[in-house]
Amino acid sequence: NAVIGILGGGQLGRMTALAAAPLGYRCHIYDPDADGGPAAQVSFAATSAAWDDWAALDAFAEAVDVVTYEFENVPVATVEYLMKRVAVRPGPMALEVAQHRVTEKSFARDQGLETAQFWGVTTLDELIDGLSAVGVPAILKTCRLGYDGKGQIRVDMESSLATVWEELGSDDAILERMVPFVTEVSVIAARGADGEIACFPVTENSHEDGILRRSVVPARVSDAVAAAARKAAETLIDGLDIVGLLAVEMFVTEDAEVLINEVAPRPHNSGHWTQNGCATSQFEQFVRAVAGLPLGPTDILYESEMLNLIGDDVDKVSGYLRDPDAHVHLYGKAEARPGRKMGHVNRRLSPRRG
Ligand code: ATP
Ligand code: MG
Ligand code: MG
Repeated sequence: NAVIGILGGGQLGRMTALAAAPLGYRCHIYDPDADGGPAAQVSFAATSAAWDDWAALDAFAEAVDVVTYEFENVPVATVEYLMKRVAVRPGPMALEVAQHRVTEKSFARDQGLETAQFWGVTTLDELIDGLSAVGVPAILKTCRLGYDGKGQIRVDMESSLATVWEELGSDDAILERMVPFVTEVSVIAARGADGEIACFPVTENSHEDGILRRSVVPARVSDAVAAAARKAAETLIDGLDIVGLLAVEMFVTEDAEVLINEVAPRPHNSGHWTQNGCATSQFEQFVRAVAGLPLGPTDILYESEMLNLIGDDVDKVSGYLRDPDAHVHLYGKAEARPGRKMGHVNRRLSPRRG
């Protein structure tokens, strides 16, 4: 039976591999730290080799039928190398856009969507110019490689820009206006090999210290906002010509404006609730799209919340195991470091029938 190659060996790869099995697919993980990691633990094969180990990539391409990624910071050169040997879904355009915050926001604007005001910053002088352009409060972020709120510094009237610039320690940055949002939402869209699109229900997200803490579905937004959020996700997944998934994080303002924050061409933490609360999970949908199968239905089965288990939260698992409305998902990570995502719990919120 067919083998899906996955670049990246974290929890998203793990849950993708688990969802691939019932559809008859085996997964082969490729990651510089694949060995014994969350995805390798549940996969048929794993290769631990560098992103530019061309001989290892040749062997990987030989061993799989299609390649995808669960991590958007795979070097574009790696994907371009693999593409000459095996189908890679999504293609490199999605990676290129999602890897760089200025490119990402510019792409969204080119598609007619709104974002926070932003300014590309590569020097202290540009930071000073940027602050007068976007205004305060603002947030300075590295353009590449940030996640879970890492590589971000808030900037206000009192900030010393020289200190902020030194603290960031990157000369490829973006200054964004802080959006006074009322709600953060996300939409995960799937696009099949034939161009068919299916969106999962709009999810409402709460972050603490830049890390996703809780997602709730359905999002408490108006029908018009929900429609605009889904439309934005459809526009972006089409524009990026993705076969696979695209997660779109958005801010909703008091005036019901929807601003694009960032995109990820892969399964997303805010979509984990679909494992238990939706007709098709985001991981199954991902496998379906990448494998060229028809997409599954995205109907919500019950109102749900998803709670991330971060660091020591993992100690609360025994309580959730006694909760009849909870489903526990652990990632098989050995060490519970502070700020590290160890697992999550999906909980049913709407009453059971009968
Ligand atoms: P992820 O782990 O989702 O990839 P990330 O590190 O790439 O996160 P962002 O999504 O840019 O970072 O920011 C993390 C969170 O910080 C956002 O979800 C939001 O709560 C807050 N935030 C970021 N940028 C802004 C902004 N311009 N205005 C208001 N809040 C913001
Ligand atoms: Mg991000
Ligand atoms: Mg984010």
